[in-house]
Amino acid sequence: MTGLRIGGTAEVVVLPSDQDASGRSLGASELARLVEVIESGKLTSTRGEQVSELESGIGAIFGCGEVIACSSGTSAIHAAIAAIDPEPGDEIVTSPVTDIGAITPILYQGAIPVFADVSPLTGNVTAASVADRISPRTRGVIVTHLFGNPAAVDEIVDLCAPLGIAVIEDCSQAWMARRGGQFVGTIGDFGVFSTQQGKHLTTGEGGILLARDPGRARRARLFVNKAWSGDDPRPDHEFLALNARMTELQGAVGNAQLAKLCDFVDHRHKMSTDFLAAVDAIDGIAVVHADPADVASWWRIPVLVDRGLCSPDALAEELSKVGVAALPRYIRKPVFECKVIAEQRTFGSSHWPFTLARPEALDYSRSKFTGTGEFLDSVLVFPFNERYEPEHVSFVVNVLREAVQNISGMVS
Ligand SMILES: *Cc1c(COP(=O)(O)O)cnc(C)c1O
Repeated sequence: MTGLRIGGTAEVVVLPSDQDASGRSLGASELARLVEVIESGKLTSTRGEQVSELESGIGAIFGCGEVIACSSGTSAIHAAIAAIDPEPGDEIVTSPVTDIGAITPILYQGAIPVFADVSPLTGNVTAASVADRISPRTRGVIVTHLFGNPAAVDEIVDLCAPLGIAVIEDCSQAWMARRGGQFVGTIGDFGVFSTQQGKHLTTGEGGILLARDPGRARRARLFVNKAWSGDDPRPDHEFLALNARMTELQGAVGNAQLAKLCDFVDHRHKMSTDFLAAVDAIDGIAVVHADPADVASWWRIPVLVDRGLCSPDALAEELSKVGVAALPRYIRKPVFECKVIAEQRTFGSSHWPFTLARPEALDYSRSKFTGTGEFLDSVLVFPFNERYEPEHVSFVVNVLREAVQNISGMVS
């Protein structure tokens, strides 16, 4: 213990940030690949080899189905929904505690996002909360592995498969996490990953889709390329689709990053194990529940604050004084309270596709989302990345311990 005082004179450790070079591992191998692409003059994946190499590299790790590189995690979700091809007004069950990029593609495909409550202990949807929202119109379920902690996707697959409902795993925050020995992203029908600036593996912007069924994989691949069936004897634009292709520049960085992904994940695992054990020992702070049979791949470090002792907001304010940007609530409000959903701001003034929805599908009453409310009210999310070293972990843990003691009035 260094006798740190918050805002006092003790040494403040500057934390690496995944928003700049300090928290990322970008260097010679990325540059060499980028030079190769520039010198080839082939910047599009329709001409070059980087993106297809990235797809095979990721395929080799996960060993299942097809891999389709996309321009973002959002577009990978979009391609999965387009591959399911819901009828307008069909329903996709999803989580209210996620990135909006996992929700808006549902609406673009004319389907209705129907929100399942999350566990107050994990922030993840459960088989029971998903079962509660399934209707004859449900065509898919998006399961977000929040913060890299696997959701019970196997149980959700058992629920959905007999009903013909597709399961999309959103692994944007969970690269290489394992559920009962199996990589997340390979358990459902689709696995989606983001390679955005702040994710485990970065290409600035980018996304990866794993698709198990060959027919759906083909549809998804067409979708990200304007549905142009260039490999057909009589090629055509087969259906309504966008351009969501990844560029060779992204692919080049992705290949260099992929070679280091296992090291990144191992290092995160080591640092997060100590981080979590130390914060769990602080009175008033608990780690989120993780199934002992799973291996989480922590993206950020969420903790649950005992609100009887101190508020996550007060803690965050105290921590910000020493440069620790802990985020209370993770997202300010459940996704269904954002204007796009709450006010149905979609196409012109039509409110479409919400106009096609069953009224119960649009019931966002707080009483239906008690787990969500409790989780968001008590969670405090710590930044974390592959450049964290023991000194960063112990600094964060020490200042958190001090902040809890200061606020709760406990004597150290
Ligand atoms: C980052 C993220 C996305 C969206 O990915 P983008 O690459 O930013 O489009 C979707 N879902 C979750 C859970 C994410 O964390």
